[in-house]
Amino acid sequence: MTKSIAIQKIDFTCTKCGECCKNLDKNRVFMLFPVDIPKLTKALNISREDLISRYIEKSLIETKEGNYLEVYFVKPAANGHCPFLKEDNLCGVQEHKPEQCIRTPFGIAWSENRNSLYECLKEANIPEEYSTVNVDKELFETLRDGYSA
Ligand code: SF4
Ligand code: SF4
Repeated sequence: MTKSIAIQKIDFTCTKCGECCKNLDKNRVFMLFPVDIPKLTKALNISREDLISRYIEKSLIETKEGNYLEVYFVKPAANGHCPFLKEDNLCGVQEHKPEQCIRTPFGIAWSENRNSLYECLKEANIPEEYSTVNVDKELFETLRDGYSA
């Protein structure tokens, strides 16, 4: 099982502004991994079929080997925000939040883009060598097995 990144290792404070859960678009998407599906069905108390039809968009991504993998993304709400974001800017699935959200604002396979989309990172004291690439390799590998229960 992939270990979650402990962002507490870094000099960073989340002000809970909610910005990283808003304005989802091509540059800011929330990818879901197979392990996220049962977590979300539990958090929302809905079936897998309901979760997929109401909250998920499917897409194909190309691997280094030239194969295609089906990947699930969170479908933004009508206002462009994550559908699980509450009015108080807190996460509505906090105890079961997706792997990518656990890593935010550093992101999945984070290494180079230190001039991030997020204002909060601009003041963070992040060591040059800090990267989540190696830790997240295992998480990406799980995509090869697909999302079947
Ligand atoms: S943008 Fe940064 S400060 Fe705001 S909620 Fe996300 S991680 Fe926290
Ligand atoms: S699941 Fe929670 S942490 Fe993740 S984008 Fe939605 S509201 Fe934010």
